Amino acid sequence: MLAPFWHAKYMGFSIDLLPASADNYIYLISDVALGLAMVIDPGDADVVRRALQKKDLHLALILNTHHHTDHTGGNAKLQHDYGAPIIGPAKEAHRIEGLSRGVDDGDRVTFSDLHGQVIETPGHTSGCISYYFPELKALFSGDSLFSLGCGRLFEGTAAQMWASLIKLRALPNDTQLYCGHEYTERNAAFAMMLDKNNEALKARVAEITKLRKKSLPTLPVSMATEKETNPFLRVDDLGFQKMLEKNGFPTDTDPAAIFGALRAAKDRFGA
Ligand code: ZN
Ligand code: FE
Repeated sequence: MLAPFWHAKYMGFSIDLLPASADNYIYLISDVALGLAMVIDPGDADVVRRALQKKDLHLALILNTHHHTDHTGGNAKLQHDYGAPIIGPAKEAHRIEGLSRGVDDGDRVTFSDLHGQVIETPGHTSGCISYYFPELKALFSGDSLFSLGCGRLFEGTAAQMWASLIKLRALPNDTQLYCGHEYTERNAAFAMMLDKNNEALKARVAEITKLRKKSLPTLPVSMATEKETNPFLRVDDLGFQKMLEKNGFPTDTDPAAIFGALRAAKDRFGA
């Protein structure tokens, strides 16, 4: 198991990336002065508890992006030990045990001086949400948007997922993306297969290779970079559509249909 990575401090807050299970990231956001923390998608309670103890923090809040166990598995233990409330998608309330508050699109979640915005991003699951914290310039996207990829369509349609990704793409360029898994290297191989002349992608792949050689996370990454390099965010780009056609994808003008074909190709490619 890798050690937690200290990431950055913003106005007295720090964001830690806690690797868990095979390739999940749990995100711990702490208010250093108050000694309080919130955690996003705690799949593993022990990983979170160790980080809290090491930093001498009390857990004040648990956020979930969706119901999958690798994102919620630590909820019960942490709620029991710290009395922290659990906030998650209202549309998955029946599938997240112990949920204290269900939230919908546009709702706010408050932790200390931070005001997160709930963005509904269905597709991976039917009730998936993402959390955007303007004060941190940070997007926690769970399994909806990955660096250079997106989540599998377990419960939603391609049209739904495409609509979700467009919402995330509208966030400011300097937003940092914190997603639920370290899938970047595999996603990069797929992206390069389709788009090998994309200079921004080539630069990102060089960076990814360097980081992974040292077992460092490829996250966070700016939305500016994702907008230029993530194939799933580019299916409405005419140049990119031409390239897909050259790669044997059927000609289509509906971005949602192109997105669906691209996601299906990724399923066959793996992850
Ligand atoms: Zn998931
Ligand atoms: Fe997951």
